Amino acid sequence: MELSSSQQESLNRFMSGLQRRNPGEHEFHQAVLEFAETIIPFLDENPGYQEARILERMTEPDRVLTFRVCWEDDKGAVRVHRGYRVQFNNAIGPYKGGLRFHPSVTLSIFKFLGFEQVFKNSLTTLPMGGAKGGATFNPKNKSEREIMRFCQAFITELHRHIGPYTDIPAGDIGVGGREISYMFGHYKRLTNQFTGTLTGKGLAFGGSLIRTEATGYGAAYLMENMLTRAGGSVWKKDCVISGSGNVAQYAAEKMIQLGAKVVTMSDSDGFIHDKDGIDEEKLAWVMDLKNNRRGRISEYAEKFECDYFPGERPWKVPCQLAFPCATQNELDEDDAKALIENGCMAVAEGANMPTTAEAVHIFENAKILYVPSKAANAGGVAVSGLEMTQNSMRLSWTREELDTRLRDIMSNIHRQCVTHGEDGDYVNYRKGANIAGFMKVADAMLAYGVV
Ligand code: NDP
Repeated sequence: MELSSSQQESLNRFMSGLQRRNPGEHEFHQAVLEFAETIIPFLDENPGYQEARILERMTEPDRVLTFRVCWEDDKGAVRVHRGYRVQFNNAIGPYKGGLRFHPSVTLSIFKFLGFEQVFKNSLTTLPMGGAKGGATFNPKNKSEREIMRFCQAFITELHRHIGPYTDIPAGDIGVGGREISYMFGHYKRLTNQFTGTLTGKGLAFGGSLIRTEATGYGAAYLMENMLTRAGGSVWKKDCVISGSGNVAQYAAEKMIQLGAKVVTMSDSDGFIHDKDGIDEEKLAWVMDLKNNRRGRISEYAEKFECDYFPGERPWKVPCQLAFPCATQNELDEDDAKALIENGCMAVAEGANMPTTAEAVHIFENAKILYVPSKAANAGGVAVSGLEMTQNSMRLSWTREELDTRLRDIMSNIHRQCVTHGEDGDYVNYRKGANIAGFMKVADAMLAYGVV
């Protein structure tokens, strides 16, 4: 993004204020900078937003909750964790966003995730505000009963702050169908109400078809939209995917179905490179490994006799399409350069903020197709929104109906990015997503007056 000197000065002033008010919160600073770089020039052309100090108000969460979560492990030892919920902005609907259980989480991470969620939810066109939360709990190597007890302890506190018209949490890293079920069961018991307060529920108790697949499928659909607009297609393109969790699995599944060749997957220990491609059968084996047996991706290399690179990320593998689907800041400047040198033409972020700020600038300067997470992975929350709709209407849509709606929502997001990010032949999807997401929330905030 080229900024004029006065815009750069406004950006610097704004960011130094934000950093002063939120010391040490590096992920939050990064997410706001990525946003403000594209919004400050837009504010110049739309002074009404600036006079109402909308950007300053949007970067201050409505509410930050932190709480103690105590539970007993299988040996009877008392464990203490910290729980969080950042209710960032509910201008266009009740708070909505996932819960992450991972030992690395901090307030900064939840603030960055909650901030991004506001604009992602706005892009889906559904009426949802933004929030994010979770806990420092590590579900790995815990027994089923330990996970259940932790989920119940977590909801014992969080239930006071959520509800079908207030805040509707969902899954994220470390929180899948199993954890949502434990939390929903306990929430129902505490409130004595059956409401759609959590999404990602099991199909037998108010869950939606396609929700499990939605984030990964949505990222694949957005990639397809970008390539189609650019006059190409995903057919026979080599894809590098990081992660092997929910988002990675279904991004891989849809890309295989669309005729692309997926050559890598990873976990936090390393990545596998399968030059023959991960086909549907091999992917089913990965899903069983990760979702049922809870094993490591290295086992794939033993099973299917391909290369395994411990402690490495997959970005140096030649490909045309890249899908970072593991975690934040997993793709840096050197990775971005390697991707471009090796012929990568498009990047769709399945994970939240997986690309560092420097790497984003490298993609944009090279004018490759790069779509940020708030647009590319919005399919998950979109189908969560559709789960809420189905719960309110007390009915269930079919798989085909939901897949059609998901495709339409992703095409609509692509269109909004193009409308606001088109610059001659090039589309800056980051700028387009930020401006489109911003406008809806900002207009609602303006209409409410000073609140
Ligand atoms: P999962 O827990 O299912 O999978 C996460 C994957 O990323 C695993 O392969 C995990 O490896 C790997 N990973 C996690 N942390 C790290 C790390 N620090 N370094 C390297 N690898 C890591 O999570 P999801 O697939 O649900 O989420 C992945 C990303 O997508 C996150 O950024 C999340 O916020 C985002 N997202 C998820 C949505 C959803 O619907 N699930 C919706 C929108 C965004 P290991 O098993 O070794 O930990």
